[in-house]
Amino acid sequence: MILLNIMFLYLYCQFKNELAFKTNKKPLLMKTKEISLNNLIDGDRISLSALSIDEIGDEHISTGIETPMKTTAFDMSDDEKIEKIEFHFREIMETMGLDLNDDSLKGTPLRVAKMYIKELYSGLNPANKPKIALFENKYKYDQMLVEKGIAFYSNCEHHFVPIFGKAHVAYISSGKVIGLSKLNRIVNYYAKRPQVQERLTVQIAKELQQCLQTENVAVLIDAKHLCVASRGIKDNNSSTVTSFYGGTFLEDQTKKEFLAYLGLNTDY
Ligand SMILES: [Zn+2]
Repeated sequence: MILLNIMFLYLYCQFKNELAFKTNKKPLLMKTKEISLNNLIDGDRISLSALSIDEIGDEHISTGIETPMKTTAFDMSDDEKIEKIEFHFREIMETMGLDLNDDSLKGTPLRVAKMYIKELYSGLNPANKPKIALFENKYKYDQMLVEKGIAFYSNCEHHFVPIFGKAHVAYISSGKVIGLSKLNRIVNYYAKRPQVQERLTVQIAKELQQCLQTENVAVLIDAKHLCVASRGIKDNNSSTVTSFYGGTFLEDQTKKEFLAYLGLNTDY
């Protein structure tokens, strides 16, 4: 048992090392942690069972790149899920002592249930994945395309409170291009899941690599976590930056060009 605990602790330390927190040198971002995600490997899963539930939540550790889903995730229809969540959310509110006969509260369980399935967590269902059409790169534009400042709203999977911020994405065409609004839609599809920022970053990057048929993709997310700002450590000033660089974006010059477009200090 002790050996097992040491093993888990080792894995945990390894994982933390991989996240490679660096001190901030960027003038535009106050107290920002930068987390580079290129070391995470597809399908890699880490066991967190040696940690307490508070540790997992406050450290915002995830177990892998794929959103953990049950094989039975879509056995129920959306309407059945809404009905079930409504029932259980009513239980939660009643347990907290709220009077559900009050006119203001009585519709809340159904409102929350609909909001979860149809809006906040609609990105769990692959049926809601945006349809991406590729176009030929007729202009023969072979330089970097950057779409910056894509606003997104997500929710932390450890506390179910908002993560919100800006995603900046870039790619260099391999001969195919996609409509610009599709970049926003891909960001928002993956944001509408219970998330950790690191996973959100990698999921967006992998999706872009797949649909654009190129490794040459970069994603940088700068976000605030309300579970850090409004509870726990109650740090209202910090934001978290996560980045993923693929293909030529791993080269210094290309990475610097991308960061320069974002107005970020490139000396790191
Ligand atoms: Zn959280």
